[in-house]
Amino acid sequence: MEKAEAGGRKPPEKLCRRCKATFDPSSNSPSSCRFHPSFFVCRRHDDQKRYYELDPDDPPYAAKFYDCCGAEELDALGCKSHFHVSYDDD
Ligand SMILES: [Zn+2]
Ligand SMILES: [Zn+2]
Repeated sequence: MEKAEAGGRKPPEKLCRRCKATFDPSSNSPSSCRFHPSFFVCRRHDDQKRYYELDPDDPPYAAKFYDCCGAEELDALGCKSHFHVSYDDD
């Protein structure tokens, strides 16, 4: 006997389009979603007016950071928190 695929069953979790995490809409709170409101940029800390192109000799960590808070790790915990935003919301 063939087993039917569980295709019709939708998981209760939704996907956050901001942090790409799955979350339970019933437990979504203003502190659920941690994210960076600005982009991870490549430029010098000490010259934020001009875009800085990395030279091959430059250490990569010298010029990469989040524009919003200065965190230098790409996976640094978000400096802002808010509700998760599902793809259903607009
Ligand atoms: Zn940040
Ligand atoms: Zn989120």
